[in-house]
Amino acid sequence: MIKQKSRDLRLRKVDQQSAVKTVNHLIESLLEYLKKNEDQPFFRDVSVLTSGSYYEMVKINKPNEFDIMLKLKVPRLELSELEEYQGLFYKVKLVKATRKEIQHFLLEDERTISATKIKEEMHRLVRKFISNHFKGKGWVINRKLVNSPAVTLEYNNKEKEDDVMSVDIVPTLEVPQGWPQAARSGPNIDNWLGKKCRRQFVSKAVYFVPKRPKGRNLKDDAKESWRISFSHIEKEMMQYHGNKKTCCESFSNKCCRKRCLQLLKCLIEGLKQRYPKELEPLCSYHGKTAFFHVLSDRVQDSLWSPGQMSVSFMKLFGYFERRALDGSLLHFFVRQHNLFSPPAFPKRALAFLTNALKEQRELEFPVLKVPSPSAALVPDTDALLHPNPINGTDSIVASERSFKHVYAWLVVVIVCVGIGCVFV
Ligand SMILES: [Zn+2]
Repeated sequence: MIKQKSRDLRLRKVDQQSAVKTVNHLIESLLEYLKKNEDQPFFRDVSVLTSGSYYEMVKINKPNEFDIMLKLKVPRLELSELEEYQGLFYKVKLVKATRKEIQHFLLEDERTISATKIKEEMHRLVRKFISNHFKGKGWVINRKLVNSPAVTLEYNNKEKEDDVMSVDIVPTLEVPQGWPQAARSGPNIDNWLGKKCRRQFVSKAVYFVPKRPKGRNLKDDAKESWRISFSHIEKEMMQYHGNKKTCCESFSNKCCRKRCLQLLKCLIEGLKQRYPKELEPLCSYHGKTAFFHVLSDRVQDSLWSPGQMSVSFMKLFGYFERRALDGSLLHFFVRQHNLFSPPAFPKRALAFLTNALKEQRELEFPVLKVPSPSAALVPDTDALLHPNPINGTDSIVASERSFKHVYAWLVVVIVCVGIGCVFV
């Protein structure tokens, strides 16, 4: 199983190379365009702060989704927390008024940076860039979404219909002067990654993306608010995730942490596809948050050895299910913020999630046995050779025969998890 899994991961990396090439070309050209653009000098000074799952290598059903954070250079900023959102949403102001280019993106007080203005301009510039430089080359811009901080570009390869990918471009503000009060004590990683590591994290910059809270009848402040982002730290925690620094450095000290997160994300995506309306508030960030909490508690690398895969996944799943049942999943960095609290996560959706998770556990995770439709979009040679979806127990036998199958490891894990359940 370990052999098969590492092989799958290698395959996945090879598959992604052409996608990465296409995306890199797009982003490099966009940066070039922005640097030279005549109509909006404020966007000339951008740089890429890459984050998101592709670079953490934990994308599961949609490996061709990319997140690109574009960092805008801003003068010294002052943050004020929007109280009703417990440390997640902020009003971002310049410390003093300015005549610099950013002045076109301020509200009437001439200090507050308008999230909507920045988002709109990003959208306008990307649209112009595509029509000037990438017209007819397969890239289209998605409709603006009021709650999303991103400009989403989609790529459709006319010659290869399955070749689909998307890129989220998110304008980002960097605040170098330290973390806001709500996150000051830092993540609870002393036992896992160590105190020194926590101090290093807290000394880094934080970022803000133009995202407003969910819900209707927002106050004016909330409509122009920025959401704090720790994706640069999350990326680092994913990369250097061991209690000992050597974790995953070589084959002999591999662990199954990332694999467990992949499985949980797969479960979340599967549930969302099955119940898009009922589970609309659920997202992969809930899974990632639960994952970090479990990692900071279950610290020893030996507990996550590949042989402990099923036990480890059940621990992670169990934690996630308990958090849903209690209606309390605290943000990993901003402890006072409960990601399972309304209005962002309505009670009805939470009750639905709790039932769905219970059902999955009792029926031995049927949602993991069926590859999602989007998995077919993966330009994966093996998947194309074996396009039949795996359904039920019959195909478990079938996939054992054709062990080359891309989803085989997943099925094996399900079986292990099932056996694990019997012992629990
Ligand atoms: Zn590891």
